[in-house]
Amino acid sequence: MSYKAEYIWIDGTEPTARLRSKTKIISDGAEPDTWGFDGSSTNQATGHFSDLVLRPVATYPDPIRGGSNVLVLCEVLTVDDRPHGSNTRALLRPVAEQFAGQEPLFGIEQEYTFFRGSRPLGFPEAGYPAPQGGYYCGVGADEIFGREIVEKHLDNCLAGGLTISGINAEVMPGQWEFQVGPLNPLDVADQLWIARWLLYRTAEDFGVSATLDPKPAKGDWNGAGAHTNFSTRAMRSGYDAIIEACEALGRDDKPREHIKQYGAGIEARLTGAHETAPWNEYSYGVSDRGASVRIPWQVEVDKKGYIEDRRPNANADPYVVTRLVVDTCCTALDKAFLL
Ligand code: ADP
Ligand code: MN
Ligand code: MN
Ligand code: MN
Repeated sequence: MSYKAEYIWIDGTEPTARLRSKTKIISDGAEPDTWGFDGSSTNQATGHFSDLVLRPVATYPDPIRGGSNVLVLCEVLTVDDRPHGSNTRALLRPVAEQFAGQEPLFGIEQEYTFFRGSRPLGFPEAGYPAPQGGYYCGVGADEIFGREIVEKHLDNCLAGGLTISGINAEVMPGQWEFQVGPLNPLDVADQLWIARWLLYRTAEDFGVSATLDPKPAKGDWNGAGAHTNFSTRAMRSGYDAIIEACEALGRDDKPREHIKQYGAGIEARLTGAHETAPWNEYSYGVSDRGASVRIPWQVEVDKKGYIEDRRPNANADPYVVTRLVVDTCCTALDKAFLL
């Protein structure tokens, strides 16, 4: 019997790309192959040269449709077989390959916020809910909004074969988090994009939208980030490499270079309040949720492990963030330890 392949790709919306998908029926025994789409409708081409190419790069069981149906993650190419300008995955590939010997691993914490209409889920029609305090990892109908969607999304991610390490309710009502990893750079970024697609798709059935807006409610409400946990083999075996990675992220022009590619609207989130460090000051520290980069307390005790870059926005592109972190840290580690 033929099956359904949902081709998923990242569009050219500025300043933050969006996910798109469409369905192809594939005959029994055949694999999802190269396909195309109208780039003039996705901010990826003009009407006169609108054809763009979808190249399948990873396939997952489709937990929405079930059966032998699949989700197919694609890179966008031009008709002459070159990566399209919006294709940030193509830029990660060579960097991941160059430093594969250091065995980099990432765990990314994806925070997001549910909305019903124009209000965050759990916010009353007018005015505001009780101030932050009881919502983070809360329980009960007065604190928790959308758990049935979150549980369904988690089940869908697991059925899709994704490496999810956990979920939790966040500091603002209607705000949640899931974590993808630890995985190598390409896999963590591929899986995070698929998990995002599954989030939107799962919530759709409940009449709820999910947003990665880094500051979805103005005022005294936490923003949404994508804390990026990172290690290499050397960092997993010794503390000198942990410190060198933290130092490398703060050296020369690196803080500025990273911040400007960590997601649109980052200055509005990294204010120095709400468990953030100011966007224009780099710092690192043990257990410090007010630092740009945190060394978890257990890592300091064990003298090995991983670091947490707390700066990336919820709306950051994981292909870009993992490329920058690998490039900056692995280049420095290569030099420092002549690996
Ligand atoms: P937080 O305390 O900041 O909320 P979480 O538990 O939400 O931390 O997320 C920690 C993430 O770090 C998880 O995704 C986990 O898989 C990841 N992680 C654990 N060990 C490593 C490691 N050695 N290298 C990279 N990531 C790791
Ligand atoms: Mn977390
Ligand atoms: Mn969090
Ligand atoms: Mn975190």
